Amino acid sequence: MSTVTPGMVCAHHHLYSALARGMPAPPGTPRDFLQILELVWWRLDRALDLDTIYHSARLGALEALERGTTCIIDHHESPNAIEGSLDAIARGCAEVGVRVDTCYGVTDRHGPEGAAAGLAENERYLRAGGRGRVGVHAAFTCEQSTLEAAAGLAADLGVGVHIHVAEGVADVDAGARLEGLATDDWLLVHCVHLDRDLPGTIAHNPRSNMNNAVGYARPAARPNRVVLGTDGIGADMLDEFRVAFVRHREDDVEATPETAWAWLTNGRELFPESLDDRVTWSYDPADDPWHLAYSTGVRPLQVEIDGRVVVEDGVVTTVDPDEVRATAREAAGRLFAALEALP
Ligand SMILES: [Zn+2]
Repeated sequence: MSTVTPGMVCAHHHLYSALARGMPAPPGTPRDFLQILELVWWRLDRALDLDTIYHSARLGALEALERGTTCIIDHHESPNAIEGSLDAIARGCAEVGVRVDTCYGVTDRHGPEGAAAGLAENERYLRAGGRGRVGVHAAFTCEQSTLEAAAGLAADLGVGVHIHVAEGVADVDAGARLEGLATDDWLLVHCVHLDRDLPGTIAHNPRSNMNNAVGYARPAARPNRVVLGTDGIGADMLDEFRVAFVRHREDDVEATPETAWAWLTNGRELFPESLDDRVTWSYDPADDPWHLAYSTGVRPLQVEIDGRVVVEDGVVTTVDPDEVRATAREAAGRLFAALEALP
């Protein structure tokens, strides 16, 4: 027996981090979340070029498909390779056959020119027909004028803004700064330390929040629609659901897996094409939260995207998985060398 479901949706991913596993140790030990950004992620993103972005996206897309995730909402930053970066991600995903919605995370960390280039990449990609939103890194790394420009561009293009919100205490002013700008079509990522409610959908990333020791977001206490993301740690959404449930249960012993399951399946509202995809799972029932919360290792046997078989007998058929992994490993070597050469 097996159960067929629509495709899984990862509602917040960073495909650019797929090559990061095994990366060289940071120049110092991060002592808090801001230092994790400064010493790890804000160095990695500076070392990316269009080639490593493409190989990273291809590997991330392959690994998503292997877990039944057919739709990825991606958030990207590569300050030394901005123009064309969203096309490199879209190209990597298209080769594998995964649907992607991506954006460039605008920031003033690299001066006003960097912010303008990020906005321009969002606009260029979206106007050319790319699927996505307008990305913003986070309020605390942006001038207010940049936040306003991103909100204005998103409204002009009829898409929402995809932004990290109050992930750590460094961004505790996000609520005040985004109030009046955020609208119902915004994707608000994390909201761990958000001091007020904002309009939009909240993307909850429980494993990442635990990994960064930022605290528990308590998404069940918010009035917003909640969806699940991985924040770049793969795209195994059944696994993220299990983590979301146990983190909820740890906070509230009366929590049931139905709540985290709703967060998981809400992702399909942000990516309705997922309903056109079919995943046949190794376990029956594969749509019952009480079963899946306690059944590890459930995996897709077959995946169809828009009627096309892309996984057969558990193996991705659109690309050669061994070739994708081998070239990704070579690309990771180039990325790590660039990382070690950074000032
Ligand atoms: Zn993120």
